[in-house]
Amino acid sequence: MDISCTQDELDLFKRIGAVAAKTSVECYLVGGFVRDKLLNRPTKDVDIVCIGDGISLAHAVSDTYPGKPHVSFFKNFGTAHFRYEGFDVEFVGARKESYRNDSRKPDVEPGTLEDDQKRRDFTINAMAISLNATDYGKLVDPFNGIKDLEDKLIRTPLGPDITFSDDPLRMMRGIRFATQLGFNIYTETYDAIKRNKERIKIISQERTTDELNKIMLAPKPSVGFDLLYRTELLHEFFPALVALAGTEMIEGKGHKDNFYHTLQVVDNVAARSNDLWLRWAALLHDIGKPPTKRFENGHGWTFHGHDAVGERMVPKIFKQLKLPQNDRMKYVAKLVALHLRPISLSKEDITDSAMRRLLFDAGEDLEDLMVLCESDITSKNKQKVRRYLENFALVKERLKEVEEKDRIRNWQPPIDGEDIMRIFNLPPSRNVGILKTAIREAILDGIIPNDYDAAYAFMLQKAAELGISQ
Ligand code: ATP
Repeated sequence: MDISCTQDELDLFKRIGAVAAKTSVECYLVGGFVRDKLLNRPTKDVDIVCIGDGISLAHAVSDTYPGKPHVSFFKNFGTAHFRYEGFDVEFVGARKESYRNDSRKPDVEPGTLEDDQKRRDFTINAMAISLNATDYGKLVDPFNGIKDLEDKLIRTPLGPDITFSDDPLRMMRGIRFATQLGFNIYTETYDAIKRNKERIKIISQERTTDELNKIMLAPKPSVGFDLLYRTELLHEFFPALVALAGTEMIEGKGHKDNFYHTLQVVDNVAARSNDLWLRWAALLHDIGKPPTKRFENGHGWTFHGHDAVGERMVPKIFKQLKLPQNDRMKYVAKLVALHLRPISLSKEDITDSAMRRLLFDAGEDLEDLMVLCESDITSKNKQKVRRYLENFALVKERLKEVEEKDRIRNWQPPIDGEDIMRIFNLPPSRNVGILKTAIREAILDGIIPNDYDAAYAFMLQKAAELGISQ
């Protein structure tokens, strides 16, 4: 076994070992820290398990530091935690757990190191390293996690049905680790996820979505979504995404599998951006396709209006998945709504006003929209891909020119709703909106120039048509 630790880490481990020895408590490094060290992944989360009272040990270790870092603890779970010099150190007393069928809240009682290792989710997360003087540095690995690390396998330490039924979140965690680490899921473990998928319902949506976001932030999110789909775990909490899957053939005409297309788009975006919400926009860009799918005789499959339908689905999906109901959601909905627009601008004879309109609608998110659109090209035909990318390059060039000329991004029309209410002495009402929109549209369409006087004259004329006077 080969682990390299920094001097700070070694100092921390010696200190914990020495404090534990004074009170004759055995203690071990355990879990994610051991796994990540063996994999040479950076980690600052240090998990310590002791055969005794974890909370007392945490306090005793904290007391040896000059500043005595603050210890927060949960008496019910027997866990305690402090931060010191960039480390997050978590202490727990070794325990046995037994679960009831209707809850993932276990009955907990003290146990041996092996009891504690058994209750962990995967063999690669169940390895411990001794911090005790007698066998300092020894790996304690009753489930051969080291072999699974070498073989790149996610496997439960106990029978997988027990592990998953006790805490169904582990199914999500397993798929998340497979995605983050590029590991495979051991066949029996995989089959047990399929069998136990319905149990995910007892987990709060927030926790499931937390794992989903970690999958989304992995280098290749498609790995996780494909596993979620094939195990049918996805069907339990995200049916709208599942509805994208599959193809249909009528009169010899088929359409692409929009689920796997979407996963490719997410991976393409992930290769270019770490932004979680841009990745969500990629995942949802075609979400409006299943409800808009039609077969038109003599023409083939169409998905008319899937951009607008998808835009309206975003808030519902965010609500169901307990994702934030804020400007991040609006950003995702906006990109879904606009994802076809740059394609329509790549046709010939496009006017400046169409360019201005996209600049206005996309505003500060234009670059992200272009990343999404370029990522949406998943054709296997290299020539086609090149042609589409060249078209987008031209669109970007034109958008830049129009923006330099007209400064439309982050632009506000010279007369706003407040002005209109004041000038005509109107309360907030439908007519105010009509006048406001008419001014904006006239400027975007190039009917009037982008200045106050022209807008004022245009507004008076429109108001007269509506029978409004000053
Ligand atoms: P990450 O930090 O990427 O989430 P991690 O493995 O460190 O990975 P934590 O949630 O910090 O994950 O958990 C630390 C350790 O606690 C795990 O390695 C595992 O041994 C154990 N563990 C965490 N959650 C569970 C769970 N739901 N069931 C069983 N064991 C768990």
